[in-house]
Amino acid sequence: SLKAGIVGLPNVGKSTLFNAVVENGKAQAANFPFCTIEPNVGIVAVPDPRLSVLSDLSKSQRAVPASIELVDIAGLVKGASQGEGLGNKFLSNIRKVDSILQVVRCFEDNDVVHVSGKVDPKADIDVINLELIFSDLDQEETERSTLDKIQNALMDGKPARSVALTDLEKDAVKHLCLLTMKPIIYVANVAESDLAEPELNPHVKEVMNLAPELQSGVVTISAQVESELTELPYEERTEFLESLGVGESGLGNLIRATYSVLGLRTYFTSGEKETKAWTILAGMTAPQAAGVIHSDFEKGFIRAETVAYDDFVAAGSLAAARERGVLRSEGKDYIVQEGDLGRSSSYS
Ligand code: GDP
Repeated sequence: SLKAGIVGLPNVGKSTLFNAVVENGKAQAANFPFCTIEPNVGIVAVPDPRLSVLSDLSKSQRAVPASIELVDIAGLVKGASQGEGLGNKFLSNIRKVDSILQVVRCFEDNDVVHVSGKVDPKADIDVINLELIFSDLDQEETERSTLDKIQNALMDGKPARSVALTDLEKDAVKHLCLLTMKPIIYVANVAESDLAEPELNPHVKEVMNLAPELQSGVVTISAQVESELTELPYEERTEFLESLGVGESGLGNLIRATYSVLGLRTYFTSGEKETKAWTILAGMTAPQAAGVIHSDFEKGFIRAETVAYDDFVAAGSLAAARERGVLRSEGKDYIVQEGDLGRSSSYS
């Protein structure tokens, strides 16, 4: 949804405004299960009297208003663009919003300290304007130098993704949607007779040899076999695949490869109520991974009980895994691994 960021100098009433708007929004629209996504992010319904008119007319079961995401971006201070405070972090948060709501202090109140000593809206607006301008100049410089690097690679006949870039540099050129920046997978389509040992096929071998320097992944699949599988009754598919010397349909490999080039990982939660796969980014810490389930879990994270998928299957149960010593207790810095089975002790 559309994102609006609330910015302004300290003590001008940003969080007061944010909290009020989100609370009112909650009262008006019971349809949003998580009106406060994070302490500083809220979903706010866009009030529109036409909605209930229409929904009454159509006898709709429920009316779902349009919504915008409101973000309270605190921390913009004089010097932010020079890294003052957590300046650059806040500025990059502002970069992600579609529109900016700048709160300007126009109230006098001796009990509420003004950062520069007196209420002066013009001066406040100037300060923030300047910070945004400095930050944009920085951004533009980063983009320029990043584009130079990319141009050199492209002129050399190399894909843009072959250029090593920092996260800042990547963000700076994201908007160009460069085709050669996208992760790419070569799907080697082979005859069914090659499925069991694809690397014996010299063409496949060639693709595999080319892939590393083109920063691409390779997956072998037989489109024909995939197509034939769809025609078979479910029970006969495994048998058919076994007759070709493979354990599973190529689709699984394809999707896993896609996951992998996008830097995605899967971890599981499992209990009597349900077993669920969760998608996270490679390199996420345990609290970040828990935050994918619910942001409260990230905030409240203390430790997580974790067992690798293979270890869990070998043990047969969490209790058995604990006995064998493969159920580990991991803290905040733990990087979640592909296939981890998680049970955080900070929530049940
Ligand atoms: P932020 O730092 O911009 O998020 O500012 P806050 O929302 O935390 O507000 C700072 C202080 O100003 C708090 O004590 C608020 O109660 C107070 N405040 C916010 N808005 C107003 C207002 O419109 N009038 C008065 N008098 N005080 C306000």
